[in-house]
Amino acid sequence: MSKTRQIYYAKTLNEIFYQKKSVKDIQLIGGCTQDKKMPEISLCVRNIRELNYSIKHERFFEFGPEITLSQILEIDPSKLPSVFFEAVKSIANRNIRNIATLAGNICAKNYRHTLFAPLTALDARLELKSETETVYLPMTKFTEIPEKFVLSKVILPLDDWEVAVFKRLGPAHLITENSASFVFLANTLKNQISNLKIAFAGPFSIRSLELENRLLGAYLPLSENTILEFEEAAAKLYDETYETCQDKKVPAILRSQFLNLVKYSLEQLT
Ligand SMILES: Cc1cc2nc3c(=O)[nH]c(=O)nc-3n(C[C@H](O)[C@H](O)[C@H](O)COP(=O)(O)OP(=O)(O)OC[C@H]3O[C@@H](n4cnc5c(N)ncnc54)[C@H](O)[C@@H]3O)c2cc1C
Repeated sequence: MSKTRQIYYAKTLNEIFYQKKSVKDIQLIGGCTQDKKMPEISLCVRNIRELNYSIKHERFFEFGPEITLSQILEIDPSKLPSVFFEAVKSIANRNIRNIATLAGNICAKNYRHTLFAPLTALDARLELKSETETVYLPMTKFTEIPEKFVLSKVILPLDDWEVAVFKRLGPAHLITENSASFVFLANTLKNQISNLKIAFAGPFSIRSLELENRLLGAYLPLSENTILEFEEAAAKLYDETYETCQDKKVPAILRSQFLNLVKYSLEQLT
């Protein structure tokens, strides 16, 4: 016999910590659009005002993580990195985006959702809070929310990028086992690559400073050989990362799509 589901509501961050301590197995929900089933006991946090806001600073945007995807799309697109705005716009449909939150997208369990690659490439930072501690974590190091912590802030740097590529793999507006996202960002100075960031996220995520550093200082246009060697290094990195998560079924097509996107992005530079 199925148990009656229980939903609690928190109005402040302190109420979250109180409920987490007091109610066994309680699970946070934002818009609750991620899973087909609601948790047996859930704590709805999307109405917490201190977790739902956006502020533009000179060099970064600060988001309360319970901001909905539709609220993000109300921001002037020219004020946000294009790859982030495009990624938000590509998620689900308007009705879902009206209730789906930034936090829910980042904290999705078992799969890297659409915003993971843009936030990783853009060097976003996460603020996590527990009842007694506040820690800051770069997106590049984020795997999951530690027990007793909640996501309390997302900090998004606002650098300018000459080349900015965001591509989704798999079906549009839906997450399946074929879904992944890819971001490529580059800047040049005096005809040399001065900054480069590449991120891929889906069944697992890839971001490697070692790979990116291979091309720093390279002169444009890149030679065919340089592009080929870079693709080989990217293929090796993909295979090594995949090996660390063999428990997951990953469609083979994602590998070739990733490598095609690396090549396509490099060609935008030449
Ligand atoms: C039809 C449909 C299409 C979709 N298409 C896409 C798509 O194209 N791309 C995509 O990325 N997603 C898609 N989704 C999935 C989902 O809508 C989004 O990922 C959304 O951003 C999740 O947000 P949410 O608020 O609903 O998360 P929830 O389902 O409420 O939560 C997801 C997870 O985040 C945790 N969480 C929430 N807030 C916090 C917090 N503050 N601290 C710690 N943990 C927290 C919850 O405990 C839960 O584990 C789709 C869903 C549907 C139904």
